[in-house]
Parts: sequence; structure tokens; C-alpha cells
Amino acid sequence: SYENLIKELIDVSAIVLRTYELPQKILKKCKSLKIVSRHGVGYDNVDLNYLNNEKIALAITGSANAVTVAEHVISMFLNLSKLSKKSDWLVRNGKFKERKAVQNTLELYQKKIFIIGFGRVGKALAKRCYSFETKIYVYDPYIESKLIKNNNCFPISFEEGIKIADFISIHLPLNKETKYLITKKELLQMKKTCILINTARGGIIKEDDLIWALQNKVIHSAGLDVFEQEPPDENSPLLTIDNLILSPHNAALTLECKQRMGIEACNNIVNYLNNDPDLILSNIVNKDILN
Ligand code: NAD
Repeated sequence: SYENLIKELIDVSAIVLRTYELPQKILKKCKSLKIVSRHGVGYDNVDLNYLNNEKIALAITGSANAVTVAEHVISMFLNLSKLSKKSDWLVRNGKFKERKAVQNTLELYQKKIFIIGFGRVGKALAKRCYSFETKIYVYDPYIESKLIKNNNCFPISFEEGIKIADFISIHLPLNKETKYLITKKELLQMKKTCILINTARGGIIKEDDLIWALQNKVIHSAGLDVFEQEPPDENSPLLTIDNLILSPHNAALTLECKQRMGIEACNNIVNYLNNDPDLILSNIVNKDILN
């Protein structure tokens, strides 16, 4: 309960935070707090302004989960393009001979992949896409296009990228600029065969518009690990649409990654409190403010 939480938090120096919300109302009660260490890389569930004002550090597990999320995207690319759910259903339901009647399955080979956001996960995904001999396009206005080219990818505008892509994957923070980046208007620009994946944050794609697009076959299919509301409402049409694959925000929750994130989140705290901030500098989100 909120009351118990406040009692426990009142004199702690550090908090390891998973997905719980830490608004100002709670943070204000933590009189000795020096660091919040996120178990993951997103931090939209903690009031960063408050931490900045109070000079409390915010750390993330920057190096732990990029590869894991990238593998999850590849798994969604393959599951959707190979119609794995449908194929499994056919065999289990005595419809083996109907295999030719189902829609054609697709390949990744020589396809155009569009990665939106080229940070840790975006780069890890690009590496994995090479092995499928794909052509990789990237949109990220906050990095130099040289960095994109050095990673053997092609810089492209957002508007052009959504038009030419066979596969799109989103790897951005959720903020005012990225909220509803993809709505009906953008979905209508995509190829009818396009496969769209969001493992970043719910709300970057407008869910109602995606539901409409999938129901009307405006695009081929989609994969979501993140939702506008988590968990989604039990009556949400998302739960009944065929050309959609869902996972419960567990893209980073492999056994190996959980171990890496747990260790990194705790090491962040130990190093920070031991005055060894250099050891975790790249993991401290608000290092400029603390300086
Ligand atoms: P990152 O900070 O390393 O990279 C984000 C990139 O997005 C940066 O390169 C930045 O320049 C770019 N960017 C920011 N705004 C943009 C915009 N408007 N248009 C284009 N590019 C923009 O982050 P990351 O570690 O790669 O994580 C990416 C997202 O994935 C985050 O939202 C994170 O919370 C989420 N994530 C989800 C899971 C999961 O379990 N599903 C796990 C890890 C990360």
C-alpha cells in the first residue's frame, strides 16, 4: 500500500525501480535519497524534474538489454512474416491440407527494414538484420548521418522511410514529440505488405488507428510488446485481431537479461554511493545536472 511504501522509503539512500510509478508525491517523502537506479533503460515512470531539482541521480542499465529487445523484434518479424500462429493452428485443427489456401508467407531476404531511433536497441537490431541480407534504413534526427552510414545503414527521412519499408521497428523514447508519431495518416502511407513492430513505449503508435488499419488490412500485420494502457483492457479489440502478435512488455525479460539488468542496477548504486561515479557515468541520465 501507499502508506507502507512511504514508511519503507523514508530513509533509504537508493531505490532500484522497475515499472512502478515514482511521482513527486512519493519522492518528496524520501528524505535521504541519493540515487534511483532503473532496472531497464526507459524512465518515463519517474519524475526526472524532481530528481534534477534535488540533485538525486537517475541511473539506467544502459548496456544490459539492447540485444535482448533486438532479438525480440527479430522473433516478431519472423513470426508475422511466416504466419506462425496460423500455421500452428492449421496443423492442430486437422487443416494440414489447407496450407495452400492461407495467405502467402514472406521472407526477410533483400527486404527494406526501417529502424526509427538509432540508439542502443536500434543499433543492435541493425546488426541482427544484416544476417538476413536486408537493406537497412534509419531515421534519427538527433545523431549524425555519418554514424548511421558507419553502421552500414542508410539515413532516410521519416516520411520516406514509412513509404518504402517492408518492416518497420520503433526504438524511441515516449515524449511530447513522439506521442502518436504513427496514426492513421502514417499507416495509410505504408505498404499493404508492411509489418510494423513497437517494443519501445505504448502511445508512440495510436492504438485505435492501428486497430483500424489491421482490421482493414491497410498493412500486413503488427507486433506490440508495449501498450497505451498496460495491461490492455480485457475488452480491447487488440486481443481479438488475427494479424497482430502481442507480448506482455517482456521483450527484455530473458533469463540472461534479467540477470544482467539486476546486477547492473545494483552495481550502479554501489559505485555511486562509493563515490565511484566514473564507473557508471554513461549510465547516469542526469549527470550534467549533478555536475
Ligand atoms: P536510446 O536512448 O539508446 O535510443 C533512443 C534513440 O531515439 C536515440 O538515438 C535518439 O536520438 C532517438 N530519438 C529520440 N527522439 C527521436 C525522434 N523524435 N525521432 C527519431 N529518433 C529519435 O534508447 P534505447 O535503449 O535504444 O531504447 C529505445 C526505446 O525502447 C526506449 O523507449 C526504451 O524505453 C524502450 N525499451 C523497451 C524495452 C522493453 O522491454 N520493451 C526494453 C528496452 C528499451
